[in-house]
Amino acid sequence: FMNLISIPAFQDNYIWVLSEDDGRCLIVDPGEAAPVLRAISDNYWHPEAILLTHHHNDHVGGVKELLRHFPDIVVYGPEETRDKGVTHLVTQGDRLTILGAEFSVFSSPGHTLGHLCYFSFPYLFCGDTMFSGGCGRLFEGTADQMYESFCKINALPEDTIICCAHEYTLTNIKFALSILPEDRELNEYYLKVKELRAKNQKTLPTTLKNERRINIFLRTQDPDLAAVINQETNLLQPNARFAWLRSKKDNF
Ligand code: ZN
Ligand code: FE
Repeated sequence: FMNLISIPAFQDNYIWVLSEDDGRCLIVDPGEAAPVLRAISDNYWHPEAILLTHHHNDHVGGVKELLRHFPDIVVYGPEETRDKGVTHLVTQGDRLTILGAEFSVFSSPGHTLGHLCYFSFPYLFCGDTMFSGGCGRLFEGTADQMYESFCKINALPEDTIICCAHEYTLTNIKFALSILPEDRELNEYYLKVKELRAKNQKTLPTTLKNERRINIFLRTQDPDLAAVINQETNLLQPNARFAWLRSKKDNF
């Protein structure tokens, strides 16, 4: 296993870094360069590669400055990041070897249309697709697309370590509790997350096993959730329940 670190950036972004004991490292979604450059010099890292999940500035804004310091870095990203400093465009189904590990690339449209996830067991870098307890906003894609993206993530092993790009956990759990106020797992996780955040500690990474319990967007088959939705409207399909949740969250 490699060493996994998250570097806080902006208000609530995390820039993830995987490093080997010899200092070679991989950086995911460097939205700004300064905190990454500081971590590189503090840890004596040698950055070899950057992975980009999507084109938003809080995920790509630091790439060009990092390339000025380390011109040999290989930058992988989807077509939509073409002008953000990418050196190797990648797409659904590609396999990359980075730091001796194999990463598979899969598309996860919803937040943006070209959004990609990168998976090398046990690590999943999912950008703004899944958050702990929640899901990304639908800026470009549809709820159905995001639902399909969630299904792909849900098909990974349960001990997958999910590296989300934002610390949104507390708000997400508050939203979930507004839908399922009596849920025991949600109430327990809420207390844990509230305590961590009160001490300014991170709630990430998470695991797929944990998300299956507390991420309401992964619980579209849950009878309790179905019962709540059916009080308002009769939605029988999981993707329709997912869309209902997403639009409730938009107005939360
Ligand atoms: Zn984004
Ligand atoms: Fe973002």
